[in-house]
Amino acid sequence: MTLQLTDITLTYPDGESRLTALDQVTMTAERGRLTAVVGPSGSGKSSLLAVAATLITPETGQVLLDGTELTRLSARERTRVRREQIGIVFQTSNLIASLTALEQLTVMAHLGGGRLERARDQAMELLDAVGLADQAGRRPHQLSGGQRQRVTIARGLMNDPGLLLVDEPTSALDSERGAAILGLLRRLTLEREVATVMVTHDKDQLAHADDVVEIVDGRARVLEGV
Ligand code: ADP
Ligand code: MG
Repeated sequence: MTLQLTDITLTYPDGESRLTALDQVTMTAERGRLTAVVGPSGSGKSSLLAVAATLITPETGQVLLDGTELTRLSARERTRVRREQIGIVFQTSNLIASLTALEQLTVMAHLGGGRLERARDQAMELLDAVGLADQAGRRPHQLSGGQRQRVTIARGLMNDPGLLLVDEPTSALDSERGAAILGLLRRLTLEREVATVMVTHDKDQLAHADDVVEIVDGRARVLEGV
């Protein structure tokens, strides 16, 4: 699928006035491509993902997912789009301590009302795709930081989303493990033909991206030739 954000403006209350987190942001993310959004801390990256995920409605602008205008949908319809079409790997999407890697994934399908057997097959396939088939029975404390991050990515891909939104996936990892995660994201993006938007503050990671958007103080511009 294709995500098109047009003229997105978002402000937050800030004392007596308002803080502009996103200032007329326009960008596109295409199927089968890893689009990186890079910018310093506080530049609006997480806000941008929250808008794309329909978790926050912007004051102005359009969020088009394959031509459907998401900001015009009812809350209920947005929830359905999010559940069926959008995979979310946010910094706060922690794993549940008591569940195994496999269960972290199957619980997603359960929330969506899917059948458990099919969910288990899909979860195993995804754990295999992220190189964790032999860790399926482990709980978060039995996994390394990189393995946990791979579980959250696999979980984001349950229900076969067309759009995958990823917030700073390597922030808790050393550079070697970080590079492995980025390589994995790129491969899954291609293989599953998902449009992936990954935000990062680390310019070194742009080598793994197909498209790059830079965001500074809530203003975005597309970088050419990276
Ligand atoms: P980034 O992810 O690039 O660090 P954010 O999108 O989290 O940036 O934040 C952009 C700006 O909006 C920052 O100045 C931040 O302090 C502010 N901000 C983010 N979330 C909120 C919120 N819920 N309420 C008020 N201000 C916020
Ligand atoms: Mg952030």
